[in-house]
Amino acid sequence: MPESPSFHMTPDEFRRYGYAVVDWVADYYQRVETFPVLSPVQPGEIRAALPPDPPQQGEPFDAILADVDRLIMPGITHWQSPNFFAYFPANTSGPSILGELLSAGLGVQGMLWATSPACTELETHVLDWLVDMLALPARFRSDGPGGGVIQDSASSASLCALLAARERATGYQSNERGCDGRLVAYTSPQAHSSIAKAMGVAGLGRGNLRLVETDETQAMRPDDLARQIAADRQAGLVPCFVSATVGTTSSNALDPLPEIGRICRQEGLWLHVDGAMSGTAALCPEFRYIHDGLELADSYCFNPHKWMFTNFDCDCFYVADKAALIRTLSILPEYLRNQATESGAVIDYRDWHIPLGRRFRALKLWFVIRHYGVEGLQHHVRRHVELAQRFADWVRASDRFELAAPAPLNLVCFRHVGGDDLNRRLLDRLNQSGHLYLTHTTLDGRYALRLCVGQAQTEERHVAQAWAHIQETAALVEQEPDQ
Ligand SMILES: *Cc1c(COP(=O)(O)O)cnc(C)c1O
Repeated sequence: MPESPSFHMTPDEFRRYGYAVVDWVADYYQRVETFPVLSPVQPGEIRAALPPDPPQQGEPFDAILADVDRLIMPGITHWQSPNFFAYFPANTSGPSILGELLSAGLGVQGMLWATSPACTELETHVLDWLVDMLALPARFRSDGPGGGVIQDSASSASLCALLAARERATGYQSNERGCDGRLVAYTSPQAHSSIAKAMGVAGLGRGNLRLVETDETQAMRPDDLARQIAADRQAGLVPCFVSATVGTTSSNALDPLPEIGRICRQEGLWLHVDGAMSGTAALCPEFRYIHDGLELADSYCFNPHKWMFTNFDCDCFYVADKAALIRTLSILPEYLRNQATESGAVIDYRDWHIPLGRRFRALKLWFVIRHYGVEGLQHHVRRHVELAQRFADWVRASDRFELAAPAPLNLVCFRHVGGDDLNRRLLDRLNQSGHLYLTHTTLDGRYALRLCVGQAQTEERHVAQAWAHIQETAALVEQEPDQ
């Protein structure tokens, strides 16, 4: 119940409940391992437990917080559990959570430089830091024609890249007149689904996305890319965009950027490189080979919200030519006109993405980088790769399991030798146990399990326990009759 007659939470109440929430989060991290990793609730169960109507009178904060434990926690899948090995991680950390809290406290809407200069300038600065930290091509730094911006997600980054490519290819006419239906784009069948989604959203049409053949490592084949571009030109179409992936979501395949980049240069196509999770590996010099050829790209993105201890959402998107992006997305109504913008001396990030409004996300990223330092971040990335490689060694040494794809970094795709049905049942059993959470993919038409190491608290014992559970459960599933 609000103590103040205004209904607002008073500063003293905020202090008291704020401490309680921070305690709650700290306790959560201490006991996160005790929850079943994958929420066991059935569809509709959480909603059914919620009151049907909103409260007419305000309620005491203690009661609200208690209901988080009672009503919400059963429906939580514990992404921050050290036994979460599913999908790609969405890890976080103390400094990130606190940066997020401060950002919410400031409540800044940073659409223009003028609406909070620090929101813009810290973002530019931290994104330049990351160019150096990942040894990305200098053309992505903001002091030349390029620059970086924080987006909500890699999906949005890829969409913006495609929109800029579309405009560049049509003399910046499509924004006004719509798309003419002859534009085509290329990616591999292993690319993230967000590329196909972007094709539809950008008006090029999902049917105009060409899937380029892959090699035995699931990487894009440049010879087939060149062949398809030539065939499309022959047919009177207008190739405009290639999206290559470093670290595909399905199996962590690495598309060969130098060859793809050369083709894009020769053909005048926009090359976007999607490094959503794996880009973070480049913090460590020994993994920077994944970005060989990136200097040929027009745009690049990676997600600190996946593997760099920065809570969702935070994607870093870089372009080599910011003018193309800004010309594509800029629209200036009278009510946003201001002196700083007119002067041309500032960045207005509203012109760098789809929405107008933007949160102060650079704060949490800055906190993370300052807290861990480059060395701290490198330490954890190395450790995750080392643990995944150890797991891959155990799979290789087993006579009942095999690797389903090369495992260059922190993702291991593997399968039981007993066939798709057995692997499917094995995965269900494992996830129902609550001890760990894995997901699956198909590679060359066959079912494969995926284990990705990337949680902040994951240690060797968790990966060793996962392998023990997998073997024990497989022994049980082997005994069951086929279904
Ligand atoms: C996870 C992932 C994405 C999507 O990331 P969002 O930030 O959730 O949009 C895109 N591309 C790749 C390669 C991914 O792994």
